[in-house]
Amino acid sequence: AIAGTGYLAYGVYELRHPDDQVEPDPTKKNLVILGSGWGAVSLLKKLDTDLYNVTVISPRNYFLFTPLLPSCTTGTVEHRSIMEPIRSIIRHKKTAVKFYEAEATKIDPERKVVAINDNSDIKGEMNQTEVPYDMLVVSVGAENATFGIPGVREHSCFLKEIGDAQQIRKKIMDCVETATFKDQSPEEVDRLLHMVVVGGGPTGVEFAGELQDFFDQDIKKWVPEISDKFKVTLIEALPNVLPMFSKQLIDYTESTFKEEKITIKTKTMVKKVTDRTVEAEATGPDGKKTLEVLPYGLLVWATGNAVRPVVKDLMSQIPAQKDSRRGLAVNEYLVVQGTKDIWATGDCAVAGYAPTAQVASQEGAFLARLFNTMAKSEAIESQISTLSQSLNLQPGDAAAVSRDIETHEKQLRRIKDIKPFHYTHQGSLAYIGSERAVADVSWLNGNFATGGGLTYLFWRSAYLSMCFSTRNRVLVVLDWLKSKAFGRDVSR
Ligand code: NAD
Repeated sequence: AIAGTGYLAYGVYELRHPDDQVEPDPTKKNLVILGSGWGAVSLLKKLDTDLYNVTVISPRNYFLFTPLLPSCTTGTVEHRSIMEPIRSIIRHKKTAVKFYEAEATKIDPERKVVAINDNSDIKGEMNQTEVPYDMLVVSVGAENATFGIPGVREHSCFLKEIGDAQQIRKKIMDCVETATFKDQSPEEVDRLLHMVVVGGGPTGVEFAGELQDFFDQDIKKWVPEISDKFKVTLIEALPNVLPMFSKQLIDYTESTFKEEKITIKTKTMVKKVTDRTVEAEATGPDGKKTLEVLPYGLLVWATGNAVRPVVKDLMSQIPAQKDSRRGLAVNEYLVVQGTKDIWATGDCAVAGYAPTAQVASQEGAFLARLFNTMAKSEAIESQISTLSQSLNLQPGDAAAVSRDIETHEKQLRRIKDIKPFHYTHQGSLAYIGSERAVADVSWLNGNFATGGGLTYLFWRSAYLSMCFSTRNRVLVVLDWLKSKAFGRDVSR
């Protein structure tokens, strides 16, 4: 019974050796969960898997702790420290859960099946099939929005998945090494060392901060000849960055960026991207528009979310979804409008909240409570019906049986009384570089807006406590210590 001890501190898993797992009961309902992100994993964590036949389908076989993804782009944190295998999550459930590493390509709500494709590089004989469901949870997240702007998909890096962070990390050093190539022209050096970030939401801001740190704290030391040439520019279409934060924190972020020498171009909308330049339209204080062409070495695109094709396709099959644009419209119990047996959580659902990890994880936990309750109340209902039948067969015990029925009915009323989903916002946090962070936190019924070095320590401890497992937490702390003591690794 050694397996699982590492997770005890998290308080979620019981101490259980994987071999002690029981097989699911085939007479139970098939509950299929699509995704392995915040919504799906938080549902899985709290779901009583004895009550259903649970199948998880996701193109990646791990949960990714996305808040620390910007830190992976510079090696402040190593990528495996923020990944947790789905296999380890499901292996600690009392009743076994099936997992298929595959992409859901089509959901058929009429036939109640999901078409799946094996998306791995190694292809087996069987690589596409269908999975039937009685209940389906869509937690597939969103894809990167490009707004159809030409060149974005071909030339920029996104920041959503582990592969994106690895690609950025490699490209940063590629730009540095190429800029120092023998006899490179000064204009080319300037272009290669110009790092452009598009989108002033938390993703763009955190990445720009981490990137400038990497340069100031490490690259500059190892490659001093480029010290006055490395430049980070953040482009945002709106009048300011971090619109979800208070005015005071927006100002603090902008002044910190100024100190860090990160250029912020607000009211500037990128219209076109080529392999070497970004073309943007800047609106001046007088409302006049000018076109700017910015040569770049690395371009990171962080302009928010778009609906995934599988979700778009599902929406097109449900008439009640016709007016929804940003994802699957759900009711207050997260049931997809126009369906009875499909639920949605996180970035692919439209429940009236921002598409954040916090929302997705609260939605997942809500669904776990809902599903546990549904299965339990169905069991009690069937007990009541059996008892009612025996009432007619054995009139002698009628009084005792009636009392029994009454107790069951009371129990049923109590558990059926599940309140609709309600999101509790605990606050927003963002790292802004040079060991400073901003936080808008709701605490003890008050709202606190703070920025600076102490907030940075708060940011670190909050993110650390939110990490998936003790193993992840230990790895992240070791990474932080390692990069502080030895500097970040500048190898490509
Ligand atoms: P976002 O939607 O928050 O921000 C994208 C920004 O890009 C917008 O401000 C938009 O005006 C700008 N933009 C769009 N098109 C543009 C163009 N052509 N040119 C210039 N600018 C353009 O996106 P995000 O930062 O990826 O965040 C997505 C979601 O995840 C948000 O809900 C966010 O709150 C959440 N998130 C939170 C945190 C955190 O709390 N620390 C971190 C990352 C993401």
